[in-house]
Amino acid sequence: MQRTKRLTKKERKALAPRPAAPTGQGHTHIHCIACGRHLDPSDFDASPPTATYIVCEHRSSFPSCVGCLLQSQMLVSSHDRTGQPVKTAAAWH
Ligand SMILES: [Zn+2]
Ligand SMILES: [Zn+2]
Ligand SMILES: [Zn+2]
Repeated sequence: MQRTKRLTKKERKALAPRPAAPTGQGHTHIHCIACGRHLDPSDFDASPPTATYIVCEHRSSFPSCVGCLLQSQMLVSSHDRTGQPVKTAAAWH
């Protein structure tokens, strides 16, 4: 029986150009914490990017549309202030 060909590091990298959602995100879908809009990994790579990550004081990162940045920053800073989980908006597509 033939084993499936193992990918070299380089080939693997080509298949997965960037890591999935940052640590703390238990799912592959990325949604803006302020408006709940679905964000594509390519949104973070676009120039200029239309989505970004906000990192809280505990080094957790939270995805946000650039347009929601102000609102998202308020959500994250109130999470840092109160220790409560970030009040993320309901995800939608
Ligand atoms: Zn989604
Ligand atoms: Zn948003
Ligand atoms: Zn935090």
